[in-house]
Amino acid sequence: MKITVVYDNRTLDPDLAPAWGFSCLVGDDLLFDTGGDGPRLLSNMGQMGLDLWGIRTVVLSHPHGDHTGGLGGILTINKNLTVYLPRSFPSGFKAQVRARARVVEVHEPMEIAEGIHTSGEMGRGLVEQSLALVTGQGLVVITGCAHPGIVKIVKKAREIVSGEVYLVLGGFHLGGASRRTVKGIIADFRRLGVQKVAPCHCTGSRAMRMFAAEYGEDFIEIGVGKVLDIGP
Ligand SMILES: [Zn+2]
Ligand SMILES: [Zn+2]
Repeated sequence: MKITVVYDNRTLDPDLAPAWGFSCLVGDDLLFDTGGDGPRLLSNMGQMGLDLWGIRTVVLSHPHGDHTGGLGGILTINKNLTVYLPRSFPSGFKAQVRARARVVEVHEPMEIAEGIHTSGEMGRGLVEQSLALVTGQGLVVITGCAHPGIVKIVKKAREIVSGEVYLVLGGFHLGGASRRTVKGIIADFRRLGVQKVAPCHCTGSRAMRMFAAEYGEDFIEIGVGKVLDIGP
């Protein structure tokens, strides 16, 4: 399973543009979130030589603009998309997408494609879905902003797909979190058996440093241009 980061607050390649938001390609044909800006998303993907017309599925984690803003750009050039979004998305947004793509409204956990599961809607108020991937190395969890709580999301993923948690990647939403809170989350990650971490986007610099210090070689630096090739 290949994961390619195409939109993030940071970049690992000076030719690719960073911007506040998140998006990654899972395999060749599933895009998780779309970043905040269509032209930037499309130009990053184009520069990386990725096939925009080969994308079949878009999964939107939650309705914030830094995760949904790029959708319009893809819908303009790719007319053959199925968009999985939380059922609780604003009805106006859903209607706009429905005019240009097939829409699947997600509520409960479900398998979107072989080995690719959504957590279903999580959280109260700010509802979000995350992905749980079954890989040869173990379970991979991908989050947008993790508004429902990163630990809750990892626990939910383990309920849906049994097995060891190989990697948690995405925004952990700990920008305002105290040292103590982050310490507790790291301890929970260890208890849950999370082997590798790849926090990015809205994780916050303090939490990033603490995860990096704790996980050492198992901390994966993320930015636009990062390609993770995870077992079969
Ligand atoms: Zn965000
Ligand atoms: Zn958000």
